[in-house]
Amino acid sequence: MPDLMKIIEIILQDYKRTMDEVYYDDEQGICEIIDVSSKSSNDMMKIVEEKKLPNDTKVFVCLSLENPETLLTLVPEYVDKGFSLPSIRTKSPLNNSINMYMLCLEKVDMKSSGFSGVNSSQMVYDTVEDWSNMTESNCKTKYALSKDTVKQLKTLSFSEPTRNKDSSMTQKEHAGAMYVSGMSGDVNVLDINQNKWIEGKEQGVPIVEALYNFHSHPEEAYITNKVNKAWPSAQDYIGFLLAVLEDNTILHIVVAIEGVYIISLSEYYAGNKDKLSPDVAGFINSNFNYCGKLDNSINWFIKNINTVKYKGQPLFITEFIPWDKATKDFTIYYCKTNGKCLVK
Ligand SMILES: [Zn+2]
Repeated sequence: MPDLMKIIEIILQDYKRTMDEVYYDDEQGICEIIDVSSKSSNDMMKIVEEKKLPNDTKVFVCLSLENPETLLTLVPEYVDKGFSLPSIRTKSPLNNSINMYMLCLEKVDMKSSGFSGVNSSQMVYDTVEDWSNMTESNCKTKYALSKDTVKQLKTLSFSEPTRNKDSSMTQKEHAGAMYVSGMSGDVNVLDINQNKWIEGKEQGVPIVEALYNFHSHPEEAYITNKVNKAWPSAQDYIGFLLAVLEDNTILHIVVAIEGVYIISLSEYYAGNKDKLSPDVAGFINSNFNYCGKLDNSINWFIKNINTVKYKGQPLFITEFIPWDKATKDFTIYYCKTNGKCLVK
């Protein structure tokens, strides 16, 4: 149930909690307890039993979604005591306002017995997970480059020089697109779209319109700029952001001699694209310009670039993967398209 941790972030901060309150409505034959997290299920059920309610009373318990640990403990306990039928709500079954999202479980009458543990608990967790995915504002997906992709990208910085108008020969940047060619477990595998290659200039190439795209930094540019590492430039970040806004691009890869730099939006901005203002381009230009800082390591670059905050939140995530590990999977946050998390 790993995604439950994220639920914490979407829960309202300023709720007033009604802890342990037991309500009973004899007309509807419903008993409910809002927020049972403070006691064990045994103690809680003792309180209900002491009320000597009619046997056909429906009992509801509601659990805070704030604390995944508590959920992991309490859900199996209540399932054991005959609770199931999960629902996630901000109003209790008796219409008491909860002011936050809670998971409520129902026991159809006082005597209904326990369900066989694991599967029933799993069904409850699935409900929570579905709800979490539905309310999540961004998307989160695992990707990996295929072996063929790595093989082809690895040679890209060493491409053959091509002829210029003045008949000199120079290496150019290359740009291309990738697509999800299949799944390996829960990882989306990226392959190169061989029909979409673009050759650019010595320093600069347009981004190819696609969900996944890349461009290379050629060897000659290292020599021209007197650098031994060619991480993304401020211009590369601006290009990526434009591609996000115009083509729903999910990730961009800068192909270098030392490995690949994978650029994506931060978790925050993947869910809050509307918080970006027109000043963001200027912001990137002045804050993402790490070119020509010769003596610094890739670790130094990654650490610094990932801590740059725009309006108090990280803007991009950059991950570096060296060639010998280039088929490893990586996690990317990206924006929903029409409310859906599309990978193709
Ligand atoms: Zn570049």
